[in-house]
Amino acid sequence: MTVTADPRLALIDRAADALLERLLAWSAINSGSSNLPGLARMAKEISSLFTPLAEQSQTIALANVERLADDGQLLSLPQAPLLTFATRPQAPVQVLLVGHMDTVFPADSPFQTPHFTQRNILQGPGVADMKGGLLAMYQALAAWEQHPKAKQLGWRVVINPDEETGSLASGPLLAEFAGQAHLGMVYEPALADGTLASERKGSGNFSLRASGRSAHAGREFALGRNAIAALAEALVALHGLNRQAAAGYPGVTVNLGRIQGGGPVNVVPDNAVAHFNVRVADHAEQQWLQEQITAIVQQINQQEGITLELFGGFTRPAKASSAAHRLLCDWLADCGATLQVPVTFKATGGCCDGNNLAAAGLANIDTLGVRGGQIHTHQEFMLVDSLTERAKLSYLLLQRAAADGEQLKQLLTPPQAIALP
Ligand SMILES: [Zn+2]
Repeated sequence: MTVTADPRLALIDRAADALLERLLAWSAINSGSSNLPGLARMAKEISSLFTPLAEQSQTIALANVERLADDGQLLSLPQAPLLTFATRPQAPVQVLLVGHMDTVFPADSPFQTPHFTQRNILQGPGVADMKGGLLAMYQALAAWEQHPKAKQLGWRVVINPDEETGSLASGPLLAEFAGQAHLGMVYEPALADGTLASERKGSGNFSLRASGRSAHAGREFALGRNAIAALAEALVALHGLNRQAAAGYPGVTVNLGRIQGGGPVNVVPDNAVAHFNVRVADHAEQQWLQEQITAIVQQINQQEGITLELFGGFTRPAKASSAAHRLLCDWLADCGATLQVPVTFKATGGCCDGNNLAAAGLANIDTLGVRGGQIHTHQEFMLVDSLTERAKLSYLLLQRAAADGEQLKQLLTPPQAIALP
């Protein structure tokens, strides 16, 4: 039997309409990372789809996440639970399939419903990132369960509710599950032309809270300690870290994203808050940048009457390539050739749970979801025919992993040290 005559591929093709119908319904459910009722609705949908496929289904509560609000209050934010489904945990080859149910669109976003802009182009919240991906993942597994050699391969699906905010609560569980698998498959969207991500930068989110002393700007100015001025000094220094190519850290970027502070202009402000995002190309850059940030904060804290506190940290270590990762890429290219689907890879500055899996020692391909674009904007779209195309690609990758898993196991490396905040 040739691969293209595999009846499981035809089964995936026949599922096209059902997948699309479900995607339209899922896209219309708002599941912004902080919309807990919306995430609960998505969780119910996902569970009803995946549970019949799995031997074990579990809903795992996640710890609250601390976040510094713009007014300087430290918030403790409840998180939606994580879902996991597993089958054949004793099989010789173990695959971890990871997706997320949250989107970047909050409950009050004007972008709430999917619609077709062309016959093959569906625009809508989460259609590409990554509700379409979750459906491609499901259909690949449904096809795999029909395979005569299904027993060779066990799988665990993990679907978290907090990927878009950095997987702060789900990160430790992702690392734990990564330690039980031989390869990872993550369902972030591929680019519209099908290009997948190879290496990824690392990322961190930080907040600074400056506290000073309030005073009347006219009568007692000298008694005041200006929190905005102290914060501004720190921010200018942080921004300066961007021009370090000559120092040997060309991948470092620091993006000052938001700032808030003060009140009436005749009062010396005693509080100011800023939030910034950083990216690094590798572990050495991460270490260097962490030291620089710490030094800047210490420097400002020398000022009498000023306290500068740093919150947050690196959430996603840089994802480098490895021998195991290159083998997976080769396998996927073979799968693409079988389907006559081009498989090409390109490095990116973006991050995802693939970074965390790699840091936990698990080689993974992290853009196995649908083809699409404009993600995180109100123009987010996916190419409808990629739903089944990508499900078939994943199905063939599972088949290859089942057949050649031993080859991959030879290449697995121990996890790098990962420090989550
Ligand atoms: Zn995503």
